[in-house]
Amino acid sequence: MRDHKDVDAILDKAVSLQDITEAEALCLLSQKSSQAIAKIKTTANYLRQKQSGETVSYIINRNINFTNICEQHCSFCAFRRDANTEGAFWLTTEQILAKTAAAVELGATEICMQGGLHPEAKKDGTSLNYYRDLIKTIKQNFPQIHFHGFSPQEIQFIAREDNLSYAEVITSLLEVGLGSMPGTAAEILDDQIRNIICPEKINTDTWLEIIGIAHQLGVPTTSTMLSGHIETSAQQIAHLGKLKHLQQQAIQNNYKGRITEFIILPFVGETAPEPIRRRVKRDQPLVAETLLLTAVARIFLGHVITNHQPSWVKLGLSTAQEALNWGCNDLGGTLMEEHITTMAGAKGGTCLSAEKIKATISDLQRPYRQRTTLYANANAT
Ligand code: SF4
Repeated sequence: MRDHKDVDAILDKAVSLQDITEAEALCLLSQKSSQAIAKIKTTANYLRQKQSGETVSYIINRNINFTNICEQHCSFCAFRRDANTEGAFWLTTEQILAKTAAAVELGATEICMQGGLHPEAKKDGTSLNYYRDLIKTIKQNFPQIHFHGFSPQEIQFIAREDNLSYAEVITSLLEVGLGSMPGTAAEILDDQIRNIICPEKINTDTWLEIIGIAHQLGVPTTSTMLSGHIETSAQQIAHLGKLKHLQQQAIQNNYKGRITEFIILPFVGETAPEPIRRRVKRDQPLVAETLLLTAVARIFLGHVITNHQPSWVKLGLSTAQEALNWGCNDLGGTLMEEHITTMAGAKGGTCLSAEKIKATISDLQRPYRQRTTLYANANAT
């Protein structure tokens, strides 16, 4: 660890809007003294104000997980089930429509849809048609709704099942109304870690390739990091470096698709499967570590990825509110239902009203605004 003078020099560099290196970001993330951490927090908050302004945004949206039946066995996942086992579900078209209608009734502008990798999810002999129909079901009945769905892992699953290229899959989904994609399944973009926590998942290069293709095809994506399990600080920073590089490529090539936001998803282990419980004993996320990582992510990434969001589901609302002082400028969505993290033992809840979100932001003496998925003003669309 370097001394305070090094920390001051790195923070001065960031405040003068120069890019800090991965080594410098790692130096910040390695700080233990409360004095140094306070300076990092102040700098992150200053840069948040410069890069994203004072207003905190939020979205009225609904999560719909269409199935938890999944062929994979990620070690941290308490959500997945085998078909025909207790708790397994696979929503019908009618159920999806009813959930969407209820969301629209509450003013939702977005449906976020992801699910398990269900090998039987085929329509007319192809997986692609099943996924296209999920989009069509919503867009034909609620054309105003933004469809945010399908992780890079789901894109690879469809491509593999149907022997298509990633570009062919994304283009076909775009044709029927895909609006943007979640940058989930990123976990930690390091194959050594992936081989332990999610060995069946796409590797780092494939994740980066699929998100890059989405951007090239004009599809915006989010970006995420599953933090606080077996990864090191160096691997966290390398992950941020890969996201930064991806966004810089999209900017340089003038792609219409870009990373819209960065979300830290701290590991919740309470009911996670045994193999990861043996390695990570803790039930709930480490708050101090997550807030420091939040601040360093703002300082390192904020000039290329300007929107940073804490996960209130994983952290709880009061820690998510606190993260708004550590570099975050967005409080995320109402969600209306959340299964993946809640089944892992998260205590943040599964639903927030817009009123509760607004009150949480007002409590910090900061203005709020309802946004669309792509961060436009929701009231202006
Ligand atoms: S994290 Fe996703 S891919 Fe992994 S087991 Fe769970 S549902 Fe399946």
